[in-house]
Amino acid sequence: MRIPIIAGNWKMNTTLAEAIKLVSEMRDELDAIANVDKVICPPFISLAAVGELIKGSSISLGAQNLYFEEKGAYTGEISPLMLAELGEFVIVGHSERRQYFNETGDIVNKKIRAALKVGLKPILCIGEKPAENEAGRTKVVLAEQLSLSLADIDLAGSLIIAYEPIWAIGTGRAASGKEANETIEFIRQNISQLYNKEIAQRVRILYGGSVNATNANEFIQQPEIDGALIGGASLKPEQFLSITRQASEISRL
Ligand code: PEP
Repeated sequence: MRIPIIAGNWKMNTTLAEAIKLVSEMRDELDAIANVDKVICPPFISLAAVGELIKGSSISLGAQNLYFEEKGAYTGEISPLMLAELGEFVIVGHSERRQYFNETGDIVNKKIRAALKVGLKPILCIGEKPAENEAGRTKVVLAEQLSLSLADIDLAGSLIIAYEPIWAIGTGRAASGKEANETIEFIRQNISQLYNKEIAQRVRILYGGSVNATNANEFIQQPEIDGALIGGASLKPEQFLSITRQASEISRL
């Protein structure tokens, strides 16, 4: 039985004051939702303040990225040790990082390793580009991303995977629930081949890409989908709360 996760990726949105306002608006209601793990990932500079505001609640904190070295002369970077003091989760390999910051499979691999070493739970994002999808290469691309990202990594720690087709991120064009479920089933089979059946059954795999309060149910109710990574809708308290409540209802059944 895998507990669903609803994770909000605020991306490069919210000033410190706005982040405080946003979390204050949803904290109590989010805290009260049971049977689902709730994660919010604000920008780095708001992590400490948001962390204080959710202290003692059932809401978890995550970062959106990390650097793979623990300390040193890496101006502007944030280390796993710094994040482990503040939060529990970290998003790794988001397609925006791969696209705009040239993150390769090798870098993603180092970041996952670094996160696991300090006890952070990585949310590994994988997903195909629009052209790859149109060319029928989705499975090949995902298998390659998984094998590069997870090369020589012992999955004793907690790994969460988010399947995020790039054509669905921030576009308003989500995959269908059936389509996402089939692809996530493929990802789970792949994890089974890379590791074993037991690990594959344990790993939680989320769908991400234009999920909102209206379409969330279509994804969350699928047997292979263990929740969602939410971008745009996570900045709207009523949307994020509604998605989380829907996940809670399904998980209760
Ligand atoms: C994301 O960035 O991880 C994401 C899924 O964004 P959106 O929900 O806005 O498509």
